[in-house]
Amino acid sequence: MTDWEVVIGLEIHAELLTESKVFCGCSTEFGAPPNSQVCPVCLGLPGALPVLNRKAVDLAIRAGLALQCRINEHSRFDRKHYFYPDLPKAYQISQNDLPLCSDGRVELQVGETVREIGIERVHLEEEAGKSVHAGESIMSAAYSLLDYNRSGIALIEIVTEPDIRSPEEARLFLERLKTLLEYTEVSDCKMEEGSLRCDANISLRPKGTSTFGVKSEIKNLNSFRAVQRALEFEVGRQQQLLEAGEAVLPETRHWDEAKGMTFSMRSKEKAADYRYFPDPNLYPLKVDPSWVEAIRKQLPELPDARRDRFVAEYDLPLYDADVLTSSRALAEYFEECVKEVGDAKITSNWVMGEVLRWLKAHGLEVAESPVRPGDLAGLIKLIQEKVVSNIVAKDVLAEMFASGKPAAVIVDEKGWRQISDSSSLEKIIDQVLADNPGPVADVRGGKTKAIGFLVGQVMKASKGAANPQKVNEMIRNKLLE
Ligand code: ADP
Ligand code: ZN
Ligand code: MG
Repeated sequence: MTDWEVVIGLEIHAELLTESKVFCGCSTEFGAPPNSQVCPVCLGLPGALPVLNRKAVDLAIRAGLALQCRINEHSRFDRKHYFYPDLPKAYQISQNDLPLCSDGRVELQVGETVREIGIERVHLEEEAGKSVHAGESIMSAAYSLLDYNRSGIALIEIVTEPDIRSPEEARLFLERLKTLLEYTEVSDCKMEEGSLRCDANISLRPKGTSTFGVKSEIKNLNSFRAVQRALEFEVGRQQQLLEAGEAVLPETRHWDEAKGMTFSMRSKEKAADYRYFPDPNLYPLKVDPSWVEAIRKQLPELPDARRDRFVAEYDLPLYDADVLTSSRALAEYFEECVKEVGDAKITSNWVMGEVLRWLKAHGLEVAESPVRPGDLAGLIKLIQEKVVSNIVAKDVLAEMFASGKPAAVIVDEKGWRQISDSSSLEKIIDQVLADNPGPVADVRGGKTKAIGFLVGQVMKASKGAANPQKVNEMIRNKLLE
């Protein structure tokens, strides 16, 4: 049996965070009443003329720089023709043979190795409108409604080289890309709202050969999980065909999330003829190097640099630094908290552990966390001052999430202050020692392991309120001196 190598290339569309559309002044705000944010330009009325939004170019350049691309001094807008009701001009303004950005790369940590994924290009284009089908699906709909609010919103298309070698790698790449576009505030990358969309191209070839196999292109991938699952399905499908001596057809396939399968949509045998030509209503785009340099200077610290700084500045393990810098919001949350707490490792443990776990369980983003960095710092300080134990602190945090009250208030209301004063502890300890003559004799006889058991009994007797270090110390003093 042949060993197959998987070859994947992704085409990603991201909506840019501009306030107005790319060739007119209409608002881009999400969720407005249908067709309330339109004008002759984005409706494609005859005679209306497009004017390029400078901010959209800024953001596309920012994306290009984050993806380590060359920013081309000369690029151009082309008309890409096709007919569909949501495309009122019957062409989309895009960039074909002269894109704004070329030849970039993304370094991707995959397990122990760093893989480099080439970026063929990043180009600017415009969104189409949105069709809303009455009923279950387009096939059974009695009619469809059209909303042109989205028509003309600025998009970038990012095309990777066929450098990705597994479905998992494809998902990791997309996650990395999202992180980069969020860090640079190019796009909000909401896959559920459609502001980040991905088509995946995949083929197989016998390991060790150098020519590419025939690819299929998968559409309708609207989550990171879907990208990986659809590609995994497609690897199996293509492998079966090839091993049966059949051909993989060049075609576009649709991912059906519920069935967990891809289905043929249309053959690519006859390549679509988009009749590209330069848009005569728009000047060629000239971006001089000083413009690019000005944008480069404003770029925020990117995730790799931030991760390396977290290791150097806070002395964190690489793993922690990687998780904490996986989103800009999380990195900022951590840094704000550590500023007040001082101890980076304990802060990292709480942010990566309890905080992320709670947010994930409740489907919330870091920015939406009811416990703000200052609140978490308040709790960690109580641990550092030994007012609460680590274990009790977890309950305090759960209360903080539920009630929004500060840690100190909750600790007082609940009577969760840790008992550290010797006279209160002494009473409990003496009782425990009297009740457990066996372990006491063990400790006296040199089996100090039994101390752990006795500390545990004291913790139990105090309902978790005793300070365990202090208890340990006091038991040692009593039994070993
Ligand atoms: P098309 O002619 O279908 O538009 P392109 O050559 O423009 O194809 O590439 C589109 C995407 O498909 C790119 O991301 C590219 O990396 C990827 N790709 C190209 N050839 C293959 C292949 N044989 N297998 C997998 N992906 C491929
Ligand atoms: Zn408009
Ligand atoms: Mg192409």
